[in-house]
Amino acid sequence: MIENPCLRDKPLGIQQKNIVVTCNYVAREHGVTKLMLLQDAQKACPNLVLVSGEDLSKYRAMSDKVTELLQSRFASLVERLGMDENFVDVSDLVKNHKAEGQVKGHVYSESNPAGECVCGCDQRVKIGSHIAEDMRAAIFDELGLTTCAGVSYNKVLAKLVGSTHKPNQQTTLFSGQVLTLINGLSGVRSIPGIGRQMSNLLKSQRILEIFDLQSASLNKLEKVFKNKERAKLVQKLAFGIDDSPVKPSGKPKSLGIEDAVQGIKTAEEAGTKIRILSGRLLDLLVSQEDNRQPGTVRLTLRKWNKLTKEAKRESRQAAMPNLLPVQTENFKSSSLDKMMPLLMNRFADIVKDTNFHLTLVGVAFTNFRDKKCGKGSISSFLQPAPKKIKTDAEASTSQEKALPPNVDKQVFEALPPEMKEEILSEWKSRPKASPDKTRKKSSIADYFNKK
Ligand SMILES: [Zn+2]
Repeated sequence: MIENPCLRDKPLGIQQKNIVVTCNYVAREHGVTKLMLLQDAQKACPNLVLVSGEDLSKYRAMSDKVTELLQSRFASLVERLGMDENFVDVSDLVKNHKAEGQVKGHVYSESNPAGECVCGCDQRVKIGSHIAEDMRAAIFDELGLTTCAGVSYNKVLAKLVGSTHKPNQQTTLFSGQVLTLINGLSGVRSIPGIGRQMSNLLKSQRILEIFDLQSASLNKLEKVFKNKERAKLVQKLAFGIDDSPVKPSGKPKSLGIEDAVQGIKTAEEAGTKIRILSGRLLDLLVSQEDNRQPGTVRLTLRKWNKLTKEAKRESRQAAMPNLLPVQTENFKSSSLDKMMPLLMNRFADIVKDTNFHLTLVGVAFTNFRDKKCGKGSISSFLQPAPKKIKTDAEASTSQEKALPPNVDKQVFEALPPEMKEEILSEWKSRPKASPDKTRKKSSIADYFNKK
């Protein structure tokens, strides 16, 4: 597990107005959840570091670069955890690596040294420590960032051991040392994946310490979680057993910006605003250093209806022509020339009446495709096949329906589009079987079902 230290081990939340829209793993461990009121978040976690939403793109861009470097240079199986951590499955690299006699970096404990397990995992983990050092060197050389790493044979163990030596260090955990580490944790809450909600459930059954969880009967745990599979999963974690795979995280599926406006009433004003936003969107695309072409451009407008006193969002999209490479000198002006006629046509589709009142304008790129598109290109592998474009009326109504129940519609609408999609996709991919309606973001299912 590789961790980007510019946000290292501090609980960090992204603030938009009086809401913490999203937060890192450390903040989640303290009980902060996405879309939490600022006041509640600060109560749950007094040391919470807040970053304003506008600064988010900077953090994202740096995080993306770390993930991309790992994906493109080391292993395609890279899973992002929160904003600043990555799980990397290096099994294939290990297979093709020469045997190593020494561990790189720290070893978790002097007792039970490597070489005791008959399955050979100790040698594999040892090689992993060399790969981790190569990764950290590459991140430092190319991005100027120092990082921490934890090396072991599953996700939970790599995460736990990665935080034992900080900053800018790496630590390796061998199979013979797992129970020493697990039994030394300060309670069930210290196990990654067991958040506040779940630990409260356990607490209600007097399961507080690691030992309590290890020795609890499966029946009792089943009663706590009302789910047999989850009960088993949680008890296994208490022994350091974690079979969950590293799930590759793709690049952002869309990139977009929106602005609430005072009241745009003419096509001319709208055109000016759309042009400004499109320019900013192109800047954002350039700053992502994203080698992909947007397949679609989308215009979103919020129309105020004087009669019904209701605001209604509508979007229309158009296929994007190929853009010049982002490094080209007149990339922005030539792209704007291509986009503006498309967007103004979509504008005319949404605003048919001459008498209108807009309260929000947004533009977004979606359906990214890989420029290189060569066989074996990592991002083409990670990207799902382009889907048929839905008609927009359909798209927006289905979005309204799918909103999580605890989400305020107005707050949601004020969020940047990529954050909306993140929240919606998490909500859609929630485990349907769970009868536990009170579960929170920090629950184990979110940790393991993270897309
Ligand atoms: Zn083994």
